[in-house]
Amino acid sequence: MPKERNNDSQWSAVPSHKHCVVCGKSVGTEKDICSPECENTLVTRRKSQKRSTWIFMGVLGAMAIVWLIILPMLSKKPTP
Ligand SMILES: [Zn+2]
Repeated sequence: MPKERNNDSQWSAVPSHKHCVVCGKSVGTEKDICSPECENTLVTRRKSQKRSTWIFMGVLGAMAIVWLIILPMLSKKPTP
């Protein structure tokens, strides 16, 4: 009967290995991914992560523009 979780004391008994970063299957020490399908999933995931990073930077940039340009314009007192 296999156990789902290992105690700390049992870690030393487990041979060094990695798990697939996509599906979690056990893979060798030199690989991160178990199959070409998982590699495709990882590439797609990284692309979408990169896109959301750019969107986040864009939002930050827009907020910086508002903060630096528009707010000082609004706070200026109108000249009589
Ligand atoms: Zn996998």
